Amino acid sequence: MALIWPQAYCERSDTTKLPTKIEQNTNMKTLKDLFLDEIADMYDAERRIVKALPKLAKAATCEKLKAALLAHLKETEGHVTKLEQVFQSLDQKAKGKTCKTTVALLEEGGDIAAEFKGSPALNAALISAAQKVEHHEIASYGALHEWAELLGNSKAAGLLEEILGEEKAANATLTELALKSSDKEALGECDCHNDSEKECSDRQPAAVRRGIKPAGMNRKRAGALV
Ligand code: ZN
Ligand code: FE
Repeated sequence: MALIWPQAYCERSDTTKLPTKIEQNTNMKTLKDLFLDEIADMYDAERRIVKALPKLAKAATCEKLKAALLAHLKETEGHVTKLEQVFQSLDQKAKGKTCKTTVALLEEGGDIAAEFKGSPALNAALISAAQKVEHHEIASYGALHEWAELLGNSKAAGLLEEILGEEKAANATLTELALKSSDKEALGECDCHNDSEKECSDRQPAAVRRGIKPAGMNRKRAGALV
């Protein structure tokens, strides 16, 4: 029995009759538009993170966490400069576009920092808030790096790869800090104070170290990171 294909399928062999939507829609957004859009988003994100990191570091009671956050502040300032160089590689003026994700993550981080102020779980809360920001950056720069390569912009690809590497390293440092001390500290089992008195926040009453929160302790909302 012969197979009878519908007329539409048969006509596909005639390339002159293929849909020409791409040619017709001259306003259609391209990968370059998407790339520029996302670069503007991350330019805004990085500048917000530059403002937020000193506040996160100030809130931290673990000296190692403070140092890690301040070290990443220096890198983040570098990310702003590198993104300006990416704009330059595209002959574009550096311009930010509100990064709604970062706004939300920093607002949530500010809230949790205020809510857990004085708690043995504070450093664990700050690490978690910072890692949410890092994970968003890693996802964004991973895509941007791929797109820069697809667009044949090796200068931008190189810069984005450098930023991506630093975001991944910052995230790894935070994971290490959480596993080494902050998570135990949150449970009142921190043993990381043997080396240095200042290392973590063990200058708390024993009841607080065991996670028992005195009534009325720092309930105010901060939203202070944005
Ligand atoms: Zn960054
Ligand atoms: Fe970062």
